[in-house]
Amino acid sequence: MPAPLSRYNKESWVIRFGSVQGQRMLILAALGPYSLFRVGASLLLHEEDASGKTIITGANVENAAYPVGTCAERVAMGTAIHAGHKLGSFKAIGVATDMTDYCSPCGMCRQFLREFLSLETPIFMFNKEGKFIVRTMGELLPLSFGPDVLPPKEELRKNLNKDQLEGAGVR
Ligand SMILES: [Zn+2]
Repeated sequence: MPAPLSRYNKESWVIRFGSVQGQRMLILAALGPYSLFRVGASLLLHEEDASGKTIITGANVENAAYPVGTCAERVAMGTAIHAGHKLGSFKAIGVATDMTDYCSPCGMCRQFLREFLSLETPIFMFNKEGKFIVRTMGELLPLSFGPDVLPPKEELRKNLNKDQLEGAGVR
């Protein structure tokens, strides 16, 4: 069941968040040299971090070896994780393009984000006019696999004998 749009339209932080997305798009021109498809992503933190930031941004970073390029969502999340944020730090994520259509995170990004976002986290997809649609992490990646699905390491260890553990380099 999609999150009701009206709920988010009443939230002033969504407007500010959308405005940041728009500004971000203006400085992305050089970052999609091959596809010319410009994408910006912003992570909204629950609380201001040590450097006074409440939003961490990223843009797609392309590469002459095309498959090596990285999407905006993973750039933003990698930056956030490197800065010490983790599951529970994020209130929302926004993805913006300069297209009329809304753009949703690719499959790889959905899995990557799922590691660090709760399934209830809203994902805002902004178009070039700043309008958006919103879905939760769980809606974009249903029946997903994540860290909470893995049994505790001790449980896994019990299923392996000593030789297997040594063969796998586990001590
Ligand atoms: Zn992606």
